[in-house]
Amino acid sequence: TVTLRALHKSFGSVPVLSGVSLDIADGEFVSIVGPSGCGKSTMLRIIAGLEVQDEGAVEIDGRSMAYVRPKARDVAMVFQSYALYPHMSVERNISVPLLMRRLTTAQRLPLIGRFLPGARAVSAAIAQDVRSVAGALELTPLLGRKPGQLSGGQRQRVAVARAMVRRPKVFLMDEPLSNLDAKLRVQMRTEIKELHAKLRATFVYVTHDQSEAMTMSDRVGVMIDGELIQIAAPHVLYDDPEDIRIATFIGSPR
Ligand code: ATP
Ligand code: MG
Repeated sequence: TVTLRALHKSFGSVPVLSGVSLDIADGEFVSIVGPSGCGKSTMLRIIAGLEVQDEGAVEIDGRSMAYVRPKARDVAMVFQSYALYPHMSVERNISVPLLMRRLTTAQRLPLIGRFLPGARAVSAAIAQDVRSVAGALELTPLLGRKPGQLSGGQRQRVAVARAMVRRPKVFLMDEPLSNLDAKLRVQMRTEIKELHAKLRATFVYVTHDQSEAMTMSDRVGVMIDGELIQIAAPHVLYDDPEDIRIATFIGSPR
């Protein structure tokens, strides 16, 4: 369970989150929609530990995340601009989180810079994990390629694979499909849903595409001006919006 308790966050004097509370059950797929700038990414970044709230708490399985570093949280985040390492093969890109986990900070930097693309063998255990994730996402034939030799959708799958390889309990996805063309977006929707069914992980999925949210989610939350105004099953939002702001937002172009 992911629990958000009355999260408040301001940047300078500008309030961005004004008391966001939410319980997300294990295995649930929750989407967050809302106008640009309403605080969606900030909320995800706080769950991931990349940003710290001013007030309130994040708990995962009842445990406060206050003193848990981002890397130690059982979450993985996929961003809109998923930066893959251009000089590394797909296999290496996917294995980075596993390699990192084993290394001290001092060992990490040169790895990213120089050693990783070189000939040093990925250890057998890691290679096996990478292969199983690659298989699940149909990336096996592409493991030897560089990101520059992939299509947008394939690159996106590599980014998802890289998030998956740590087997996190919670996936945080921030507009992961927004760089893709319309056809690929629809295809990736299905793939993400299959992944969700297979992993039984918890997904918090931010999108500005309402039809994406409606078709993929158990519940959709509408955030406006830093508040989660309503969170409900997709049809409930359409049939029974609680608030004029929801009724205005739902079905609007953005
Ligand atoms: P979008 O749909 O455009 O991605 P969003 O809902 O994800 O928007 P956030 O990125 O959470 O919005 O930003 C919420 C508000 O906080 C915006 O007004 C943004 O300009 C501001 N903001 C975000 N990060 C920072 C920061 N590091 N410093 C100052 N202001 C910030
Ligand atoms: Mg955002």
